[in-house]
Amino acid sequence: MERTLTILKPDCVKKQLIGAVINQIERAGFRVVAMKKTRLTKETAGEFYAVHRERPFYGELVDFMSSGPCVPMILEKANAVADFRTLIGATDPAEAAEGTVRKLYADSKGENIIHGSDSAENAAVEAGFFFAAEEVVRSN
Ligand code: UDP
Ligand code: MG
Repeated sequence: MERTLTILKPDCVKKQLIGAVINQIERAGFRVVAMKKTRLTKETAGEFYAVHRERPFYGELVDFMSSGPCVPMILEKANAVADFRTLIGATDPAEAAEGTVRKLYADSKGENIIHGSDSAENAAVEAGFFFAAEEVVRSN
């Protein structure tokens, strides 16, 4: 079993797509082991995406991610990190494969509905960013 960290981003919450996207995630075989609704500040959004600090889109990304509530989750599945990246599709929805979450629901490369960790190591760091140990409960 492997874990990945996802965030249903503020555009997903605003569009009332929380249920639709979680349904797609569960149908793909992922188990939700932690979940909450929260709101990032500019400071915490900037910290979460600190790896992109020098990128030209960083300011817009921080503004977007702190613009409303989001829903972070820890997901569990064999090969979770890679399989989840496949499920959500390319960063830019214009380049995302048919049927992927971003192809179905995202408006742009910036407002692209959902986050997925890019490695198991980063997934563990990102999970710790949102969740205390007692909030993480294995499904079975
Ligand atoms: N992003 C953006 N413009 C870009 C690249 C990324 O606004 O040219 C935003 C987008 O919301 C993306 C996030 O920054 O999801 C993190 O970028 P990354 O390259 O890590 O993409 P991801 O791992 O989310 O596919
Ligand atoms: Mg990334």
